[in-house]
Amino acid sequence: LREIIIGLLAVSAAQRTAKMRQLQVAVVGAGAAGLCAARHILARPDTFAPPVVYELTEHVGGTWFYEERTGNYENGLPIHSSMYKNLRTNLPKEVMMFPDFPFDSELPSFLPHKEVQRYLERYCQCHLITPHIRFSTVVEEVRPVTEETERGVISTWEVTSRDKSGSQNTKTFDSVFICSGHYSDPYIPSIPGIEHFKGRVIHSHSYRHSEPFSGQSVVVLGAGASGLDISLELGRSSAKVTLSHAKPTLPFPLPYGIQQAAPVVEVLADGSLRFQDGAITQAQILLLCTGYKFSYPFLTPAQLGLEIHDHLVTPLYKFLMPPAFPSLFIIGICKIICPFPQFHCQTLFSLAVLEGSVTLPSQAEMEEEAVKEMESKVERGVKPQHMLKLDKDQWSYAQTLAQNGKFPPLPPVTQSLYEEVGRQRQVHPENYKQINYRLVSDTQWEQQDRPAAI
Ligand code: FAD
Repeated sequence: LREIIIGLLAVSAAQRTAKMRQLQVAVVGAGAAGLCAARHILARPDTFAPPVVYELTEHVGGTWFYEERTGNYENGLPIHSSMYKNLRTNLPKEVMMFPDFPFDSELPSFLPHKEVQRYLERYCQCHLITPHIRFSTVVEEVRPVTEETERGVISTWEVTSRDKSGSQNTKTFDSVFICSGHYSDPYIPSIPGIEHFKGRVIHSHSYRHSEPFSGQSVVVLGAGASGLDISLELGRSSAKVTLSHAKPTLPFPLPYGIQQAAPVVEVLADGSLRFQDGAITQAQILLLCTGYKFSYPFLTPAQLGLEIHDHLVTPLYKFLMPPAFPSLFIIGICKIICPFPQFHCQTLFSLAVLEGSVTLPSQAEMEEEAVKEMESKVERGVKPQHMLKLDKDQWSYAQTLAQNGKFPPLPPVTQSLYEEVGRQRQVHPENYKQINYRLVSDTQWEQQDRPAAI
């Protein structure tokens, strides 16, 4: 009996030691990125304690949780999601999915937003993430605490949050994953004379459906993914749409009589809009599809050695971490990417860093690499607001993360189907979403059907 008791004590001591070595990780946000981080942390119980996931809303899904209302929540915080009622994904589910978690095979390739929300809820359930989420809890501060020890400088993180009841709580972690998204805080360009505009100015963040604009003259400013998609939606419901943008001319004709114009540069004293080429028009609605600002109100950039601008956060090693604090990871900061697969790769790389299976260069070397990356973009004529757009570079970036983090790379079919859809979108902006695809293998996809209109 004595030996059994001694044996049991030894086991529990070992477990305690193992537990003591478990790293405590905080995750800010339970959208796709935060759920991905939580899922992979939970899969490594030898190294990590279950994460604490802070989520300011009452649900998971982030962007994909459709909110009919606009403005603020009851607690005064701004509504997070920019989702509109009839949005269908602009990537097929075969590309959009996390590489280890397919969408339901019965679904079409391009999905209504509620199916992506369902997918994320299923992801959350399958990976038993829900018990680790603190809902209705906003992170107010993430602060590094550095300590000089015999082993060098050790950084931990104090995360201060406030729950629904208003009570504040501060908890210490070894690492923080920032997964708070960056499509919530509207970027409003400064347009001289805007106070003279007699109609309504709204930002796509607060656009929900097209019906209220039926029959109205709408100038949509910006021809990115939302600007184009919303213009088509408005055109379909008989609004008189002018798509004002800085691109040369879109390489395809726009349906529903949608006009194209140069960017709006001024509102004249009589309320009319002046475009860059001198043309002038009247409009009832000015719909700003001008994108979003990076916003991390819970970080103090100077403490982290970072600069946070509207469209740029720098320096970030591997677009992920401040070189001075390589236990803080900002997941999904890049734009023009395939989001879920990229979250997957960034998460696995970050966990490999924490586990010690990736040896990071020195702080100075990481800084130098991040600065050189930006300098080479400047040399190529990339403007500061486009520095974090990856586009074609996303594939080699994901490959590098996989190689360094020693995890399987994304299957080549993700890139080839993503590129195919990009081509279809250029040529058939109105009906590319009617095509269905099927993955045949890691390298091959096939088109299942093709609507007559294409
Ligand atoms: P989010 O989904 O924004 O989640 C962030 C979470 O963090 C939210 O739940 C928020 O409540 C929480 N949070 C924020 N701040 C705090 C805080 N201080 N404390 C606690 N919690 C906080 N991607 C595609 O792949 N395909 C598409 O077709 C597509 N269409 C899109 C259409 C629109 C209109 C928009 C806006 C985006 C679209 N995207 C699309 C990109 C989309 O943003 C990503 O797919 C992805 O959902 C982003 O996930 P995320 O977790 O980074 O951010």
